[in-house]
Amino acid sequence: MTTKFETGLTYARELDQQDDLKQMREHFYIQPGEIYMDGNSLGLSSKEAEAALLRMMEVWKKEGIKIWNVEDGKYYHYSNKLAALTAPLIHADAGEIAIAGSTTANIHQCISTFYQPTTEKYKILVDDLNFPTDRYAVDSQVRLKGLDPSEAVKVVASEDGKTLSAEKIIAAMTPDVALILLPAVLYRSAQILDMKKITTAARKRGIYIGWDLCHAIGAIEMNFTELQADFAVWCTYKYLGGGPGSIAGLYINKKHFAKMPGMTGWFGNKDETQFQLKHTFEPAPDASGWQVGTPSLFSMAPLEGALQIFAQVGMPAIRKKSLQITAYLMYLIDEKLQAYGYGVGNPRENEARGGHVCLEHDEAYRISLALKDKGVIPDFREPNVIRLAPIAFYTSYEEVYRVVEILEEIFVEKTFLEYSDKRGLVV
Ligand SMILES: *Cc1c(COP(=O)(O)O)cnc(C)c1O
Repeated sequence: MTTKFETGLTYARELDQQDDLKQMREHFYIQPGEIYMDGNSLGLSSKEAEAALLRMMEVWKKEGIKIWNVEDGKYYHYSNKLAALTAPLIHADAGEIAIAGSTTANIHQCISTFYQPTTEKYKILVDDLNFPTDRYAVDSQVRLKGLDPSEAVKVVASEDGKTLSAEKIIAAMTPDVALILLPAVLYRSAQILDMKKITTAARKRGIYIGWDLCHAIGAIEMNFTELQADFAVWCTYKYLGGGPGSIAGLYINKKHFAKMPGMTGWFGNKDETQFQLKHTFEPAPDASGWQVGTPSLFSMAPLEGALQIFAQVGMPAIRKKSLQITAYLMYLIDEKLQAYGYGVGNPRENEARGGHVCLEHDEAYRISLALKDKGVIPDFREPNVIRLAPIAFYTSYEEVYRVVEILEEIFVEKTFLEYSDKRGLVV
């Protein structure tokens, strides 16, 4: 981005005037007096999400069990409906997507499908910066095969504790590696891994590769048709705004549709025979086969509403605003906060950074508490990171300006010293 920014408030307001997405803010529940910078952890509720949930409630009230049949079986096929709305976000076929389970459960599902270790090829390649649940799932899948994670899980280490090198990951793709699981965007530093380069290298070596898109989907543009990875998983409560604990998603490359899902259940059975209730599983002919049990409709409905907003705006416009507003935030941090020991921990290049800014400070924890008391909702990640996510749909440039002003105040007034450094249960 070549934009030259300015430091003043008037300039922030000008940017808001020029913002193509400024009307989108009206679709969201923004609390008066609060600046929400945590849409990377839990997206705010949109009016569309609320409406879809209330609509489902009405259908249940009126129809009871018939909910599965109304509107041409919309809710029986709800995963397909949501998959169709999700497909443009990752440029995959709708049939390659199932909307089901949780991210962690879907990692288990995908690894149990693709991980068939032999004596020569038995390792799973991971990194040491991924979110811990991914690693817990990998380790337990290895144990289920009677192997020891300390031998069968190969960890690529970050050199700086923040970012990963594609070259180092590729160098670790030795012939004993059977499967790779990596995050597309790192949850702390917001680094985007070079998905294309890494996936191509894995395919060349005959290694299955899957991507965790939790911090990528709804934040950056991706093209799975071009990428040809084997599988992917994601949650829908972060950038997508599906609501707390909302349903997750998974992608299975169509060339693998003939595989038997690792964890089978009756909602993965093909429609034609599902209700014959036979004891022989007949998988659906696409990613729907990777569903397990009855879909949790109430954790899906808000996602339907939320995805309609994505359909209306489209990823290119979302990413464009996100890149500009995060660049503006980094600019203000550089200009106004460096003197107080704040630093930017994410990569700066457009193609290498996701949707949040990683603000580092030795006192990050206490500063995050002071921010909350001043009406800013950030999130803190051990040991020294405050993640600030200006969301394309609803964060204004003026809010970003104000957040930086507050970060300065906290330091000038030394407000953070009033807080204890002892961590709470949910930080
Ligand atoms: C948020 C996140 C998860 C969350 O997993 P759940 O099963 O939804 O709790 C997993 N992996 C990564 C990389 C995440 O960012």
